[in-house]
Amino acid sequence: MNSDSGLAGKAVIVTGGSRGIGRAIVERFAAEGADVTFFFRDNAAAAAEVITAGRASGRAIAAEQVDVRDSAACAAAVERVAERCGRIDVLVNNAGVIRDNLLALLGDDDVRTVLETNVGGVFNATRAAVPHMISRRAGKIVNISSVAGEKGGRGQTNYAASKGAINAFTRSLAVELASRKITVNCVAPGVIETEMSAAVREQAPDEVKSRILLRRFGTPEEVAHAVWFFASRYADYVTGQVLHVDGGFKME
Ligand code: NDP
Repeated sequence: MNSDSGLAGKAVIVTGGSRGIGRAIVERFAAEGADVTFFFRDNAAAAAEVITAGRASGRAIAAEQVDVRDSAACAAAVERVAERCGRIDVLVNNAGVIRDNLLALLGDDDVRTVLETNVGGVFNATRAAVPHMISRRAGKIVNISSVAGEKGGRGQTNYAASKGAINAFTRSLAVELASRKITVNCVAPGVIETEMSAAVREQAPDEVKSRILLRRFGTPEEVAHAVWFFASRYADYVTGQVLHVDGGFKME
């Protein structure tokens, strides 16, 4: 779909773009004519598939193998994109992991990996991209949190803490960057059909759906539409917001 979104020709970085929601975001932006680079961690086959599918539709999509937990690697990859495109217009902080378990059963690595990826990764990519946006007095940052950031969920203390942090990060950075004409917003998905949510969806589908007002799971494309909105010119006057794309999710 092509629209007057203002995204054609824009340099866009999407972290975690090789699969799931990130891939849908990459494809949404590429369809708008944006110059999209995505980061992925280690699934080179999935990354190659995104690039091949993009080429088949006549779209140039680039990829960088970057672990977002590594701030130096993030900075170097962002510099490569800036050098190639001459600018960074949009950053989508999407990369994330989940390691659900009851608090007593969480290992050090379950806590560290979730916080370092979901929160540390957002800091690393954003700190690298923001100077490029400040120098041009323009930019859009869109973070992906989760319903878990605001609503309690059994076995989700580590994940919920990381996603609540992203919501708070969004609001504070929006305050910091408003004078530079950079907007910072967040999309909080509910249960979306990707590998990450497979266990939840397969174990108790009816029980989970009964907590969703629309009685179905969401698709990665439905999340990508909301990200597209925040990055488009239609959201030029929107900043510091968390938009729930969750079908009306109710949790205890
Ligand atoms: P997937 O597990 O399907 O994909 C995760 C993506 O993140 C992959 O591209 C993966 O790369 C990448 N990634 C993971 N860790 C790193 C890292 N350290 N460095 C770089 N890239 C990394 O997840 P989803 O698409 O489901 O989730 C995307 C985002 O949406 C996450 O932030 C998640 O928390 C959030 N979310 C998802 C929901 C859902 O129901 N699916 C609900 C609410 C929020 P690789 O392919 O190399 O592994």
